[in-house]
Amino acid sequence: MRFATKAIHAGQQADPSTGAVMPPIYQTSTYRQDAPGVHQGHEYARVTNPTRTALENMIAGLEGASECACFASGCGAMDAMLKILRPGDHVISSNDLYGGTYRLFTQVFEHYGIQFDFVDMRDNENVFSAVKPGTRMIWIETPTNPLLNIVDIRGLSSFARDSGIITVVDNTFASPCLQQPLALGADAVIHSTTKYLGGHSDVIGGALCSSDANIMANARFQVKTSGAVPGPMDCYLALRGIKTLSLRMRQSCESARQIAGYIRNHPKVAEVRYPGFEDHPQHKLAASQMSDFGGMVSFTLKDDSVAKAHTFMSNTHLFTLAESLGGVESLISHPASMTHASIPREVREKSGLRESLIRLSVGIEDPLDLIEDLDKAFESV
Ligand SMILES: *Cc1c(COP(=O)(O)O)cnc(C)c1O
Repeated sequence: MRFATKAIHAGQQADPSTGAVMPPIYQTSTYRQDAPGVHQGHEYARVTNPTRTALENMIAGLEGASECACFASGCGAMDAMLKILRPGDHVISSNDLYGGTYRLFTQVFEHYGIQFDFVDMRDNENVFSAVKPGTRMIWIETPTNPLLNIVDIRGLSSFARDSGIITVVDNTFASPCLQQPLALGADAVIHSTTKYLGGHSDVIGGALCSSDANIMANARFQVKTSGAVPGPMDCYLALRGIKTLSLRMRQSCESARQIAGYIRNHPKVAEVRYPGFEDHPQHKLAASQMSDFGGMVSFTLKDDSVAKAHTFMSNTHLFTLAESLGGVESLISHPASMTHASIPREVREKSGLRESLIRLSVGIEDPLDLIEDLDKAFESV
């Protein structure tokens, strides 16, 4: 099956009791047992819920994983993944990471004795040289948020496999529509389904997929034990969103291409970050692991100040000023004061996150209207 077909049919079947084409929203906390321990596969809804199972089967199908566990948020999925580690274990990650991931690593798991090193993952050598005896995990985000750097999933996964290290890829930005990390050699994939998978800015959710039995045993154990599970209504919404992932992604990619080209030629712009540009330093790598370049574009102003970025953002009308990404509506954000405010300024600047950096999540409106909207905002700065 090709991707667009999978996004409708992967792991799905009509409801056995009614023939309903979409899985019912099983709004129940528990299930009747015929005798103690004798039941139809479900005991208690923290552990399993059929609406959640339908979503899990779908995402597993899209990522080519044997299994998927869904969580109440992307952060919930990351938290469950990290709990496979033990005190003294060491994780290598990127210095250009989603702010919430950095916070979870340094303000939660570091307190429990897990060690983290943040390196520039654009160069595999930086990862190789950060490995030490306790290294158990390489955590990759690609394209990175918000700088849209690309990390070599194939290269790092094959190195990690030889060294007995788990490779985890946060695939939120690309979505399985553009990039399938397990096929490139990674061991596990994390999603914030809040973003492209859900696609309509109406639900928070997360997923962890893998074909590795140990990783999924830990994921299932954390579902049952820590219990960060999504409700059935949220699972239904995410599943509904996924059905149009392929169409939405195609339009977002096409519009982002046009918008990146427009911004690049604007006299008030210093730099545009978009991996689809042929002169993006990692364009070839992006093309080798992604089927298109995504719907995200970041840029800096020649006048590199927080104030100018704020003025710009308060003058767009179609681009809504908001955190998050991947919805049908275009969003604009300022990482230094929003999503990445929890990363210390020195760390931010070291990774190249400038004060005026503006990030666009390009939705599926007509791209000409989006360009006109940006054009007016440029007049304000
Ligand atoms: C949003 C996001 C997360 C966190 O997901 P939530 O659903 O907000 O908890 C993790 N990683 C990336 C790349 C994200 O964009």
